[in-house]
Amino acid sequence: MAQRIAVYPGSFDPPTNGHVDIVLRAARLFDRVVVGVGTNVSKRTLFDTDERIELMRGACAPFANVEVRAFDGLTVEFARACGAGFVIRGIRALSDFEFEFEMANMNHQLAPELEMVYFMTSPEYLFLSASRVKELVAFGAAVDRFVPANVAKALVAHHGKDGLRTGATEAKD
Ligand code: ADP
Repeated sequence: MAQRIAVYPGSFDPPTNGHVDIVLRAARLFDRVVVGVGTNVSKRTLFDTDERIELMRGACAPFANVEVRAFDGLTVEFARACGAGFVIRGIRALSDFEFEFEMANMNHQLAPELEMVYFMTSPEYLFLSASRVKELVAFGAAVDRFVPANVAKALVAHHGKDGLRTGATEAKD
């Protein structure tokens, strides 16, 4: 039987427990999950692509059927390149819904064979976003309970090095 492969695209700047929760749930549902770490040039990120990939790989290490790759360009093309039939996204609030609804319609025009699959956030992660995490760190607050241990370590190291450039990250997440 053909493998059910899903891609989970995002910025993951940095990965949070909310992202990892989606990966875990998707890994139970699909044979393989390919996390796509976007290298979208229009967004300034705190961590560069290689760092975000490494952080996501560390966070996903417990899941045997999950791999992490960089991707550049259209999600539908990334999905095709991975041989995936499904694209996963997470939904927290109505604002996520509007954005995702628009993207889903566009993706459907581009690749009608792809199925978009949405995971409702687990309640404990409803208000968790990468942006809020970066803000907290910038103000010196501990973020251990919001991100995987490897990410917390990287954030502290970054903060210590040159402070967090939270203002530079306008991206929705
Ligand atoms: P993007 O910039 O493509 O939105 P993100 O890294 O911000 O990338 O998010 C990737 C996906 O994870 C999105 O579908 C987003 O809605 C979802 N997501 C982010 N945080 C959470 C969370 N706390 N709970 C559920 N889904 C989330």
